[in-house]
Amino acid sequence: MSQCLFCAIVAGDIAAEVVDESEHCIAFRDITPQAPTHVLVIPREHYADAAELSGADPALAAALLADATRVAGDLGLAPGGYRMVLNTGDDGGQTVHHVHVHLLGGRRMGWPPG
Ligand code: AMP
Ligand code: ZN
Repeated sequence: MSQCLFCAIVAGDIAAEVVDESEHCIAFRDITPQAPTHVLVIPREHYADAAELSGADPALAAALLADATRVAGDLGLAPGGYRMVLNTGDDGGQTVHHVHVHLLGGRRMGWPPG
């Protein structure tokens, strides 16, 4: 089994509630939701974070953003709006080191974040 939790989810070795799959990405519900809708959108291929992904494969970074936007629409979040977050590194609060977009919606978000 993969050492990386999200690679294991991509491989189907760890169960997740998958809501969308595309050629390059999958989307599944966060196990500890912070909003009525909280989905993680990840590339199938492993990159540690957004910086590594953008540097190595900008087209895949664009595909990730496009897929996250499409999933937001499919989940009905577009009219009310939503938030996308990419925690990057320790100070960014990243705990799983496989790049992921948090897609959050269904309630009004505050700003700035804590
Ligand atoms: P981050 O702190 O930005 O790295 O976000 C990691 C996210 O992964 C957190 O919001 C966790 O709740 C979520 N998470 C951890 N394990 C799982 C899992 N097995 N299935 C779904 N989401 C998970
Ligand atoms: Zn991974």
